[in-house]
Amino acid sequence: MRAVVFKAPKQVAVEDVPDARVEQDDDAVVRVTSSALCGTDLHMYDGRTGAVPGMVLGHEGLGIVEDVGGAVHRVQRGDRVVLPAHIYCGVCFNCARGDSAACLRVQPGHVGGAYAMPGMGPFRGSQAELVRVPYADANCVVLPGVPGDELEDDFVLIADAWVTGWHAAELARVRAADTVAVFGAGAVGLLAAYSAQLRGASEVYSVDLVDERLHKAAELGFVPVDARQGDPAAQIRELRRARPGTRLAGEEEMGGVMAGIDAVGFQARDRRRPGREDPRQVIGDLARLVNPTGRLGIAGVFTATDAAPALDGGHADGSLHVPWAALFNKGVTVGFGRTHDRRYTTHLRDLIISGRARPSQVITHHESLENAPSIYDRFDRRVDGIVKAVFTH
Ligand SMILES: [Zn+2]
Ligand SMILES: [Zn+2]
Repeated sequence: MRAVVFKAPKQVAVEDVPDARVEQDDDAVVRVTSSALCGTDLHMYDGRTGAVPGMVLGHEGLGIVEDVGGAVHRVQRGDRVVLPAHIYCGVCFNCARGDSAACLRVQPGHVGGAYAMPGMGPFRGSQAELVRVPYADANCVVLPGVPGDELEDDFVLIADAWVTGWHAAELARVRAADTVAVFGAGAVGLLAAYSAQLRGASEVYSVDLVDERLHKAAELGFVPVDARQGDPAAQIRELRRARPGTRLAGEEEMGGVMAGIDAVGFQARDRRRPGREDPRQVIGDLARLVNPTGRLGIAGVFTATDAAPALDGGHADGSLHVPWAALFNKGVTVGFGRTHDRRYTTHLRDLIISGRARPSQVITHHESLENAPSIYDRFDRRVDGIVKAVFTH
C-alpha cells in the first residue's frame, strides 16, 4: 500500500509499505477514503517528539471497512467508518467512565494510545491506503452515506480536529451566554470556537498571528484578534468595553472573558519576539484575560520531553513556570488533556447528520496523498493559507 512515511526531520515521503492486515481477532482493516493533516503531525515532522524513520503518519482517517477479524461483531465489511485518533478498548476501568483517552488496555503499562504518535503505541497511521484498527467494535464509528458525498469533509473532522475542539470547550465548561476567547485559529482552535458558538456563547474571540486564519475566524462569525497588533488580552478587554448595553453592579470588574481556551500548545510564539518560542505565552495571556471565577481549557499539546527544544526559550522537560497565584486568586478552574473520543464522536456525528453543524468550513485544501511532501512543507512553514488540508485517497 502507499503511505506517508516519516524519513527525517522536515522530510516525509510517499512509499510502498506492507499492507495493513488483521493481526488480532478484534481488528478491522479500513480502506481510507479521506485523511486529514493535523498540527500534531508537524510535531513529528519537525522532529520534536522523537518519531522514528519509517513511521507511517496520520491519525485522522475516514474510510470503508475492508476486512474484520473473527471477534468483531458490530462492524462489517463495507461499513463507512470514521476512526477516532485516540484508540481505546471501550470496556476498561477508564473507558467505562467515558475517559477513553486514558484507556488502560490499548497499550499495556501505559495510559492511552493513538495512531502514529511516538509514545502512544505501535499503531501505523491513516495517511495510507489501508489502516489496521485495533478493538474495531469500539474504534470504528459507523456513518451513513458513501465515500465522497457531501458529508465526507465533515465526517473526517470527527476523527480528531472537531472532537478536540469540542473537548476544549468542554474543559472550559462553555455554556450559553458565555464570553469566550480561543488562542490559536488553526483547525482545532477554529473548531473550539465553533463548538463554543454551538453551545450558545454570546461572544467568541479568536486570537492568532496568521492572516488567513484570522480571515477564516471572521468568516465563521468570531471576532478576530491579531496578536501581532499587541497584547491580545488588552485588545479583547478594549473590544468588550466598547460593546453596548447596560451593566450589572460591578460588571466593569469582569471585563475579560468567562472561558478561555489554549489551542496552541507548547510551540506558542513569544509575542514580543515572534521568531522565539515561549510555551508560557498563552497561559500567561489567558491568566490575565480570564475573569474571576472563570474557566480555562488547555487542549493544545504539551510534551513531557521536547526532542528539539527551541534554543532560546525552549523547555526540554515540559515543566513550565505558570501564573499559579493569579489563577488561585481568581478562583479559576483549569482543565487539561487529550480528548475522550468515546464521549463525543457520536454526538458530533449526529450534529452533522442533522444539518446543525458544518465543521468542514475550516478545510482550505484538498490534496492527493502523493502530494504529501509538498503540503507538509507548506503547512509547516505556514504559507499558502493552509488552515486544514485533507488528503483524498
Ligand atoms: Zn489531529
Ligand atoms: Zn479502555
